[in-house]
Amino acid sequence: MKFQDMTAFELKEVNRENVLVVLPIAAVEQHGPHMPTGTDNYLCTGVAEAVESVLPEKALLAPTQWLGASAHHLRLGATLDSPLETYIETLMGMVRSVLNDGFRRVLLLNGHGGNIDPMRVALRRLQNDYVDRLLTASCYWDVAADVITNTLEGDHKFVGHACEFETSMLMHLQPQLVKTEFLKDAGELITDNLGGVYISRDLRQRTAEGCTGRPDLANPAKGEALFKGIVEALTRTVDDLLQQPVGLEYTDHLQ
Ligand SMILES: [Zn+2]
Repeated sequence: MKFQDMTAFELKEVNRENVLVVLPIAAVEQHGPHMPTGTDNYLCTGVAEAVESVLPEKALLAPTQWLGASAHHLRLGATLDSPLETYIETLMGMVRSVLNDGFRRVLLLNGHGGNIDPMRVALRRLQNDYVDRLLTASCYWDVAADVITNTLEGDHKFVGHACEFETSMLMHLQPQLVKTEFLKDAGELITDNLGGVYISRDLRQRTAEGCTGRPDLANPAKGEALFKGIVEALTRTVDDLLQQPVGLEYTDHLQ
């Protein structure tokens, strides 16, 4: 089911017990010389819509929140940023809207690294007021780490930025938006982790041109394999989340 295609009456009829509300959250920010600023928006929406098409009765899909928390890209330009506090409040408002409408299970489905911290804070802030609900959040790639590790060829076996992964995915979903003439090794990624210590650095400090890894190794076949693997894994995740018990006490959660 697609939230924005339905009437208020149709939404009122949806069984609150057996549906997962999926709220995709993405971003519009610089993606180096070869990828469009809307990359996260296209990829997250593409994955979410594919999952909804497999499970139309179990997933209630909201339109993608395209504005994300992207301050760490601003010095490279070509970036639209929501300040952190505003963003956390926006996510809380989105989730609260469906919880107060009676829905029991919510998934924030994220497609942008900068959104990870605020989406977790948003759920933690809501938790005490909604202890009888299932409040969940995931980056769409986290559910399919094995598929990603096995498909990528470069040294970076993880999702970076405008990297082998994102470039392959967009070559599969929106190939006309990838500037293949600019594909090249993105060079060394300056770390944000020194022996377990987090170092706060922006993308201008961490990358030569705003992208990471080996976008030159990207191709549409890899993108198709990644996309299919992620959609399959996420489909299983939706089922798992619908099986998860909700309840106020420890004993309510023992299966
Ligand atoms: Zn992003």
